[in-house]
Amino acid sequence: MMLRRSVARLSPLLSNGALRLNPIPPLPSSSLSSHSTSFCSSSSRTLSPTNDHAQSSAHSSPSVAISIDRSGLCNPPEHAHEPSSDSELVKHLKSIIKFRGGPISVAEYMEEVLTNPKSGFYINRDVFGTSGDFITSPEVSQMFGEMIGVWVMCLWEQMGQPPSVNLVELGPGRGTLMSDLLRGSSQFKNFTKSLHIHLVECSPVLQKIQYEKLKCTDESIDEESGTKSAVSAVTGTPVAWHASLDQVPSGSPTIIIAHEFFDALPIYQFQKGARGWSEKMVDVSEDSKFRFVLSPGPTPALLYLARRCQWAPREEVAKLEQIEVCPSAMDLTQKIAKRIDSDGGAALIIDYGKDGLLSDSLQAIRKHKFVHILDDPGSADLSAYVDFASIRHSAQEISENVSVHGPITQSQLLGSLGINFRVENLLQNCTEEQAENLRTGYWRLVGDGEAPFWEGPDEQIPIGMGTRYLAMAIVNKKQGVPVAFQ
Ligand code: SAH
Repeated sequence: MMLRRSVARLSPLLSNGALRLNPIPPLPSSSLSSHSTSFCSSSSRTLSPTNDHAQSSAHSSPSVAISIDRSGLCNPPEHAHEPSSDSELVKHLKSIIKFRGGPISVAEYMEEVLTNPKSGFYINRDVFGTSGDFITSPEVSQMFGEMIGVWVMCLWEQMGQPPSVNLVELGPGRGTLMSDLLRGSSQFKNFTKSLHIHLVECSPVLQKIQYEKLKCTDESIDEESGTKSAVSAVTGTPVAWHASLDQVPSGSPTIIIAHEFFDALPIYQFQKGARGWSEKMVDVSEDSKFRFVLSPGPTPALLYLARRCQWAPREEVAKLEQIEVCPSAMDLTQKIAKRIDSDGGAALIIDYGKDGLLSDSLQAIRKHKFVHILDDPGSADLSAYVDFASIRHSAQEISENVSVHGPITQSQLLGSLGINFRVENLLQNCTEEQAENLRTGYWRLVGDGEAPFWEGPDEQIPIGMGTRYLAMAIVNKKQGVPVAFQ
């Protein structure tokens, strides 16, 4: 009851005239309802599970057929001295496969492609927005970060308004969510004064963009730990950057936000066959192209499959021919839950996903279009649906002192946090162009549809993110049920 009052009180009060201009083209009204065409494009990644000998190369065909190479696992093709136009990352992946003497897991492939310290997809460039590869909710509208700010402020009230709080964001991208959160909450001085922001980001280029987005000054580097820190001029809040959650100091109440972070964590893929489950792996064919193969025998990763399936009803597993498992998500969830148990606080995880086992959701997107997962690795984003059930079970397994809530849809989350009041409020004081952007952004955030799929003549327009994106909260039981999840 008290919380409902605080939401109703907070969202219309977010700092008023502060509009962030969004150069996003308007969305045709039809695009919110029709999504089947875009969704179908994901079937270009569907496997052909029965054809043992079907060959597939990343460059010749848009569909992925599995090639089972039972003989050549210890006999990788020789291509070291051929002249090649391969990128650094492609050369690196091929050399791992060569020196490993056989294929690598999909998880290892995904991790190298996204976060290889020299040439991973996220490492050297800004991949967001209309000119980048994909667009995310904070980039769609300022209201997203503002509403997350309302959630964080309500939680801070539930925690008894502690004077010092670690506000951690995992994978902050351009820093837009945090910047909108701070600007939106800037008049709640007691709240902003309590904050210590910790950004967990692997990309030096994105760290720099975050520094600028948060209007940071006073950069310093701790000689011992190597931690970079600064102060955000938006609210005078200290900000520090880390490569992983482990490096964020513990001991203070902590609120963690992870928006579109879990979908970038590496997944393993498994396929059912006559002899049970096999791991799907990435190999190099004789013509030096990447291809999928199935492991001829058991691989250590099958332990991850067993770990995940212990939480699934037998009937659910029996129905599936393929299963994806993300052990990194399980491990990260357990770290989050342990920290919330010991330090107090909560985590809010928002991503596209499902509350149950996933089958085959890995996808590659370059310049707002689906491409083949093995095509020119490092030049396209790889992501997979988030298995929210495994997050719930992982948290519950590690701690009795945390509760897990949701998933609820993004539309329910933002609706409960007062986005309707906020949009009305902002519309009262803006130009026609800003009003159009606000309405468009609002419908993209709460509208119905598949995401992150695109439609329109050139598949340029993202359709509603309201129901495909889900939100889950992990909370220290002392804090009660978080707002929007009651
Ligand atoms: N939350 C942002 C960006 C999402 S994209 C938004 O919604 O706009 C994923 C973000 O996580 C990027 O900032 C990427 O660089 C970062 N990232 C991905 N894998 C990571 C890892 N293993 N460690 C740290 N950061 C990672």
